[in-house]
Amino acid sequence: MRFVDLETQRERLRTDIDRAIAEVLKHGRFIMGPEVTAFESELGAYIGVDHVVTCANGTDALQLALRALGVAPGDRVVVPTFTFAATAEAVALVGAVPVFADVRPDTFDLDAESALAAMSAQAAAGVIAVDLFGLPADYSQLSAEVGDHGFVLADAAQSMGGEVGGRAVGTLTGVTATSFFPAKPLGCYGDGGAVITDDRGMAKLVRSLRAHGKGSHKYDNVRIGTNSRLDSIQAAILRCKLTVLEDEIGRRQRIAERYTNHLADVVSAPHVPISRRSAWSHYTIVTDARDRMADDLRSAGIPTAVYYPRPLHQQTAYRHFPVAPGGCPVAERLSASVLSLPMHPYLSEKDQDTVIAEVRSVTE
Ligand SMILES: *Cc1c(COP(=O)(O)O)cnc(C)c1O
Repeated sequence: MRFVDLETQRERLRTDIDRAIAEVLKHGRFIMGPEVTAFESELGAYIGVDHVVTCANGTDALQLALRALGVAPGDRVVVPTFTFAATAEAVALVGAVPVFADVRPDTFDLDAESALAAMSAQAAAGVIAVDLFGLPADYSQLSAEVGDHGFVLADAAQSMGGEVGGRAVGTLTGVTATSFFPAKPLGCYGDGGAVITDDRGMAKLVRSLRAHGKGSHKYDNVRIGTNSRLDSIQAAILRCKLTVLEDEIGRRQRIAERYTNHLADVVSAPHVPISRRSAWSHYTIVTDARDRMADDLRSAGIPTAVYYPRPLHQQTAYRHFPVAPGGCPVAERLSASVLSLPMHPYLSEKDQDTVIAEVRSVTE
């Protein structure tokens, strides 16, 4: 059994992907070729947003978005402590200071109260909310609570294909950063990322920043930018994968429902508020018996993963950064009790049943 299965998807799309890659090899425009522009407009149409600006990876997408939002060295930016390191790393890489806030115990997203307290205590310029495990964060509450004081940037690296009340991830706040790392819900066969926004000025700025700060002329650089582009081959692959994303999210959704129906009485199953659709990057349960369960499942041939075993504010590189008043007790508790079960669109019913039976037997 696989934790994430890219091979079955590869079989499904083999003809299309092989043809798309061959086409790039034929025309030879490996950087910023026609596939990049085509993918940007196709993803924009799927999301229902005006501008998708692709870049080299999700970490760059966060940095480019932060710079486009005007975050400058010395500024403070609130981030959840229970996330992948890149969320805070991007803040530090633009010279700003990450301020760690707590998350909610049921949905794992940024706790608006903790974020607001951190923002006031540190006079922060804004917050990054993370759509952890694919579930869109509570942007309406966050913008109500902190929107008057600063920006709300979405880290949607795990949530392409998610929705809130029928509105797609990418439209839930002013600017969204995402990743196309292979294991993400929409992934390529290498690194990739994008900044997504309806703001024309912001999109223009990100297009300049990703290409060495170019102005209207390639050799008139008007700001210090960087080299952060999506390869044509990766864009070609993403165009193929985008055609099956909706179908794959549907499959993930059915697997998640099945897991929850059969596990919610023995472990804490993921909570999805009524209006939100998760992209189900991961199916993550909470249990006091986490380590024993992971061991038992491994012996039964079932791969699991712990995202994340340590909150960022307790990690070596991030320990010295400020933390929200009241600390982050929820994140500390979660890091000791979360366990992600196998989740991908092609997980068979038989494998799902094996996972369910094994989790139940550990808890009995
Ligand atoms: C994967 C991920 C990133 C970084 O994306 P890369 O493409 O690997 O740079 C950022 N934030 C979160 C929450 C992620 O899961």
